[in-house]
Amino acid sequence: MRDLSAGPRVLLKRLRELMAEPLEPQERLDRIVRQIASNMVAEVCSVYVLRSDGILELYATEGLNKEAVHLSQLKMGQGLVGTIAASAQPLNLSDAQAHPAFRYLPETGEEIYHSFLGVPILRAGRTLGVLVVQNKASRNYREDEVEALETTAMVIAEMIATGELKKITRPGLELDLTRAVTIEADGYSEGIGLGHVVLHEPRIVVTNLLNEDAEKEIQRLGESLGGLRISIDDMLSRREVAQEGEHREVLETYRMFAHDQGWVRRMEEAIHNGLTAEAAVEKVQSDTKARMMRLTDPYLRERMHDFDDLANRLLRQLTGFSGRASDESFPSDAIILARAMGAAELLDYPRDRLRGLVLEDGAVTSHVVIVARAMGIPVVGQAAGVVALAENGDPIIADGDDGQIHLRPMADLQKAYEEKVRLRARRQEQFKALRAVEPLTKDGKRISLQMNAGLLVDLPQLVESGAEGIGLFRTELQFMIASTMPKLEEQEAFYRNVLKQAAGRPVTFRTLDIGGDKVVSYFRAQEEENPALGWRAIRLSLDRPGLLRTQLRALLRASAGAELKMMLPMVTEVSEIRAVRELMQKEVQHLSKFGHSLPRKLQFGAMLEVPALLWQLDELMAEVDFVSVGSNDLFQFSMAVDRGNARVADRFDNLGKPFLRILRDIARAGERNRTSVTLCGEMASKPLSAMALLGIGFRSVSMAATSIGPVKAMLLGLDIDQLAGELNAALDDTKSSLLIRDLLVRFAEANNIPV
Ligand code: PEP
Ligand code: MG
Repeated sequence: MRDLSAGPRVLLKRLRELMAEPLEPQERLDRIVRQIASNMVAEVCSVYVLRSDGILELYATEGLNKEAVHLSQLKMGQGLVGTIAASAQPLNLSDAQAHPAFRYLPETGEEIYHSFLGVPILRAGRTLGVLVVQNKASRNYREDEVEALETTAMVIAEMIATGELKKITRPGLELDLTRAVTIEADGYSEGIGLGHVVLHEPRIVVTNLLNEDAEKEIQRLGESLGGLRISIDDMLSRREVAQEGEHREVLETYRMFAHDQGWVRRMEEAIHNGLTAEAAVEKVQSDTKARMMRLTDPYLRERMHDFDDLANRLLRQLTGFSGRASDESFPSDAIILARAMGAAELLDYPRDRLRGLVLEDGAVTSHVVIVARAMGIPVVGQAAGVVALAENGDPIIADGDDGQIHLRPMADLQKAYEEKVRLRARRQEQFKALRAVEPLTKDGKRISLQMNAGLLVDLPQLVESGAEGIGLFRTELQFMIASTMPKLEEQEAFYRNVLKQAAGRPVTFRTLDIGGDKVVSYFRAQEEENPALGWRAIRLSLDRPGLLRTQLRALLRASAGAELKMMLPMVTEVSEIRAVRELMQKEVQHLSKFGHSLPRKLQFGAMLEVPALLWQLDELMAEVDFVSVGSNDLFQFSMAVDRGNARVADRFDNLGKPFLRILRDIARAGERNRTSVTLCGEMASKPLSAMALLGIGFRSVSMAATSIGPVKAMLLGLDIDQLAGELNAALDDTKSSLLIRDLLVRFAEANNIPV
């Protein structure tokens, strides 16, 4: 073989010309393999393409029998070619027949070739096919030859990805790139989303593959790497790293990768072989990803995500492109795919075009999921690997009911789902018909059904759902979507607008609940080891009385002449409530001094989310007008399970004995003290758990607007006294190991209650 230092560059130049020529796909592929064979002084060059049925089919060859094209096939993992595809690693053999995986395909006539070099054809870490060269003489291919063949494979990957080969694919067969994929995951928010993929962190598609001047590209790469390293050091040197939404540990990993000499060397090599700087980044990213995707160690897989992020940052530096879809290209039926996402980021998307959210991580009570549910969009979480399998614009179905994802679904599945959506819509109509029906249980008890909200767009649902009022208005959402701290006037105008649209129905405003996982970009918080237990909510408000007083003033002014109902988040000790009352008093005095009119009535409440309050129940109830149980946080703190960590969030059942006993104690304390008690966590949104809440004594619940109909349908058929009898007996029984959830399901079945 001749010296390859110039070889690959000449080859890539020829390939570029071939790609530009107006040729039929088969002709183009034939010429490409001929060109590679001649450039690499190989007697054989063949391309195998991976089909959706997992078969690698010979698509073109120079040197083997031409009749074998489109006939020779190998399964994934079978033969040398199948081994390369399955492992995403090259194979370099001087005596191919001696390799244990070798498989003889008589139609090809390849028995006379001894040496064999094959590389995977990769795109974004996925194997699309295999590219092979063979020689009669027994020899080992040099490292630079392997590298050159890998670079060439990128050009073929591009050809496959553009869909050109579809034309020469036999009828009834499909290429793997367009394969339909179903992923079993978890349903986090009900509903079915039919639409098209929008990658939250889109891959940058490099179209300019081949360079004119390697030295110039090396320089560009060097400059971008320099910029990248500086930006990482910069982020790390800021004390409040957490504020950037970046974790220090992740940034440290980024820094380690960014200085990794092996990474830089491989990219430079790819440039020397003829690629542009961005194509070189993409090539090395794809190779690395392909190898790491096969790892099972979760820690290493996580590092793969970090590496991938870093390569994307570098690509953005090089191309100056954010990769975000422009307004025009943003689909009208977008299903957002992300590994993880903050609530504020979801709110950045045009709401009227969102049809679903799919997360690789996430947990059912994480805030992004709560916000998505408030927006009424289906959410599927724990969808492992979905981001790597999808391309922007792919058709997708997100089934939040069954917790499934169907990527590039077949036509019959798509049809079945369209039917399912129609059925769902009909059911929604039935729920709508319940809107005006009074929420009375079968044994005549009246239940207050309220909805949770946080944005103006939620308000129309108040009337549509038939909710009695808003039991939880999360005021922090306004702060989370703003780029700067909302001023007094803005807050006041916002609350005024909410009250106006609520048109007399009561609204319970919760004061700012930021901190923890609710990040407000402009608010400087320090990095915390345990943010959920940290400086958040009422703690932060009491330490920044200016912030709280502004909000209280805005609330008072917005409710002039009407009733103001407000509550405090994350109260730990009753004294905190008193402290806020004092601030409130000062605001009232201030406003009256300047002649402002005041609310006609003030109802002051507290959220019960911290277990310490369970031993202050009587003091608490004496102090406030009402209590609202935040079961998301109360469950997290009672069971010591991080609500945002999917590994543990569902580990214990919130319908198990310990938690239901806690909730029953709260309901009983409410009765004893004649204090109204509501529950506004996600538990209230599910008919089965809402039924349990009624059984242990709750008479007021607040939930996602879309749940009002299903929960009302449940309670209309429920005899509370009958359930309470059975449920309380089971909760008091210390011997029985009966699962309360099973009892509830059986009760609902026996009494024909829709849950
Ligand atoms: C809760 O903790 O249950 C709650 C309603 O508050 P948030 O989900 O906003 O923390
Ligand atoms: Mg909470």
